[in-house]
Amino acid sequence: MAKINRIRTFAMALIFIGIFIMYIAIFVFRENPILMSIAMIIGFLSVMSSALVYLWIGMQSMKTIQVTCPSCEKDTKILGRVDACMHCNEPLTVDKSLEGKELDPRYNRKSFQPK
Ligand SMILES: [Zn+2]
Repeated sequence: MAKINRIRTFAMALIFIGIFIMYIAIFVFRENPILMSIAMIIGFLSVMSSALVYLWIGMQSMKTIQVTCPSCEKDTKILGRVDACMHCNEPLTVDKSLEGKELDPRYNRKSFQPK
């Protein structure tokens, strides 16, 4: 899956988990104000961190390179040295030396050199 899509899914999950925890806090821990406050705080933090992840995605998106996927011929974005097409999951790279090689997330580290 393309990295940006994956991070977006993660941020989305965080929002739902946060709302779910707050829901439990209100309806399950009603009788216990301490448990309720703790659960509310955890739920709130989860929603807040999701907002931060969204902000971070926004900043990361500016660093992406717009390319046309050779496989499905749609426009997609590459984040880092290797990424997958947002439409067909075709592994894509902007690094000529990595062309034709298996998609490996380690290529995004500067120190990692493929053999
Ligand atoms: Zn594609």
